[in-house]
Amino acid sequence: MTESSGRTILVTGGSKGIGRAICLALAGPDSRIYFNYSSDSAAAEKTEELVAAAGGRVKGIQADVASEAAVRDLFDSVVKEAGGLDVLVNNAGITRDGLVLRMKEQDWDAVMDINLKGAFRCAKLAAKTMLKQRKGRIINISSVVAFSGNPGQANYVAAKSGIIGLTKALARELASRNITVNAVAPGYVETDMTGAMTDKARSALVEQIPLGRVGMPEDVAEAVAFLASEGAGYITGQVIHVNGGMYM
Ligand code: NAP
Repeated sequence: MTESSGRTILVTGGSKGIGRAICLALAGPDSRIYFNYSSDSAAAEKTEELVAAAGGRVKGIQADVASEAAVRDLFDSVVKEAGGLDVLVNNAGITRDGLVLRMKEQDWDAVMDINLKGAFRCAKLAAKTMLKQRKGRIINISSVVAFSGNPGQANYVAAKSGIIGLTKALARELASRNITVNAVAPGYVETDMTGAMTDKARSALVEQIPLGRVGMPEDVAEAVAFLASEGAGYITGQVIHVNGGMYM
């Protein structure tokens, strides 16, 4: 039996990158891993294959976290099929970078709607089920830039800072029912999201990372797995920084 035995886990944006690594880190013989994604069904199938090969039960579901109706359907189907929900990982996210002076309203809105409001929508429905169970874990993926700022990412930084506020407020609202709410703030992690960076920019970035390398999705997944574990039961409202020391 692993620590995720018998637990139902929902990872948003679990089809690739950090979300896929989280699904894999939480997979176990008796775990039921559900994840959603927005459009890339080939990546979702790959995650299903990998988690199944690791011995976990897994199901990928297309559901846009920017749609209240889609999120409601997602939670209805997961909770109905699994009979509850033990762990929610709010990981789905996008970037629409640009300097503020040139940023279009729709780029601001899309990032807020997916990265921040999407997490709110999912946390709200997860909390509804977890309150009845009187236990649960909610883990939100923020970013190092919520603490350091980053030019060209005002929308993303604002959303990821909002995630920290959401985490702390929810942690206080839900603590009396044995539900913990924490955040993980990754630094630069090699995924599709960061794939567009030039080699030159990447080398310059690595020079600013004390541990001398970029992060891998598994580095973040390990921190999430810890927060989801039995041993993390007395931790709530906190942020774990996984950034190689680039922000202290
Ligand atoms: P990624 O490789 O681009 O994967 C993003 C995932 O989110 C995909 O599964 C994607 O599905 C899903 N997604 C996007 N929009 C969605 C929507 N509207 N509804 C449902 N799912 C949606 O990104 P990543 O690098 O793994 O990032 C994962 C999280 O970590 C994000 O919250 C990101 O902000 C955060 N983060 C990343 C880094 C980094 O350096 N990579 C650093 C700090 C924080 P589709 O492919 O189907 O759209």
